[in-house]
Amino acid sequence: MGVCALCSKGGEETSLLEAAHKELGKIMVCRDCWRDLYQKNRMVYGSTCSGKCSACAR
Ligand SMILES: [Zn+2]
Repeated sequence: MGVCALCSKGGEETSLLEAAHKELGKIMVCRDCWRDLYQKNRMVYGSTCSGKCSACAR
């Protein structure tokens, strides 16, 4: 189990999502930070995604 790369929140209650951050690269972040990155358009799409990330769920 890891911790969020941005807010250091971790533990079994925290589900981490992979995010391709524009400055930090591929990082694992918690749901809150992921949504924050998403809303602020800080993530890179299409480059490192394996097709299973939350951003490409259709
Ligand atoms: Zn976080």
